Amino acid sequence: MFIRTAFDVLETVEVTDYLRADTHLYALTRCCLSVPIATALERYVAFRNFLAYCKSLVNNMKELTVGKRVKLEDVEVLLNDSVRIHDQSYVEDVINSLVIGGRDKLQIISDFDRTLTKQHVDGKPTLSSFCIFSQCSQLPTGYKEQDAALCRHYRPIEIDPHISREEKAKHMVNWYQEAEKLLSGFDFRIEELEQVIRKEGVELREGSNRMLESLRTADVPVLVFSAGLGDSVSAVLRYHNALLPNVHIISNYLQFNGLQVNGFQGDIIHSFNKNQHAVEKSDYFKVLACRKNVLLLGDELGDAGMADGVQNPDSVLKIGFLYDRVEDRLEEFQNHFDIVLIDDQTMDVVNGILDLIL
Ligand SMILES: [Mg+2]
Repeated sequence: MFIRTAFDVLETVEVTDYLRADTHLYALTRCCLSVPIATALERYVAFRNFLAYCKSLVNNMKELTVGKRVKLEDVEVLLNDSVRIHDQSYVEDVINSLVIGGRDKLQIISDFDRTLTKQHVDGKPTLSSFCIFSQCSQLPTGYKEQDAALCRHYRPIEIDPHISREEKAKHMVNWYQEAEKLLSGFDFRIEELEQVIRKEGVELREGSNRMLESLRTADVPVLVFSAGLGDSVSAVLRYHNALLPNVHIISNYLQFNGLQVNGFQGDIIHSFNKNQHAVEKSDYFKVLACRKNVLLLGDELGDAGMADGVQNPDSVLKIGFLYDRVEDRLEEFQNHFDIVLIDDQTMDVVNGILDLIL
């Protein structure tokens, strides 16, 4: 039993991959077998300490030998014309910290609409998760027009760089409350969402599938944090075979009373309360307490606060996708995101950085 436990621990820290410690470990386990249990326990503790020491050596070796310092100019994808980095040395430090931390310390937090999905295809905006819903034929007469009118009124406020976050947040609450009023008292079969997705061809960003697959292979958790409609988010990811076991979604889900829609479940998440919501949902982050390095992806300023629920993070790299009104919004984007990607409809930069880490 002791030997089994010991070697389980040994496998966990992967000492054998890096150090020729097997001779010492064998001697220790032999020693423990030949003494009374109390002494064996005492030596077991010493053995655990020895393993911890080996693990720290492994980390040091990775830093000194395997983890040669990454220079931004050596990362090919960061040389793309679409890439804007305001503080080169800060980003270089963060990337190196993520590389040293490796897959075991990493978690991903990503927005959904126009972050995992494309912002546009040949100039035509990709349907958002709410727009997918509004395309459904089951909705009552007038819903589409009323919903579109809300969007025409509030969307310009959401992206106006001259309006403060606090002011925007008030408008967003009004938008979602008015939208919720439209969402009650009619039957809705959720299966139609997938039919709309198939018909409209809602595309994930090129490389999103590769990113999610490689994160699954590396056992890195992905939080999809969306102020959109969770039912559509799930349906789009499922449709593209991207709703993988390591993917967790926090979003606005429809509340049902039988088949009848009755607003949203729980508190509304809008684009400017994501940070507050992240803190309130900190149970998710508590489970991932050892994952103190974060790669954050978003396409709205409010997305930059999605990692606020992570307690005492070591390194957070924020990547923002910018497409609308680039000249007006670039400066503000650069104040919120470490790397800004202009009209880049791929995950190439993210995958390039993940290739260094995983
Ligand atoms: Mg978005």
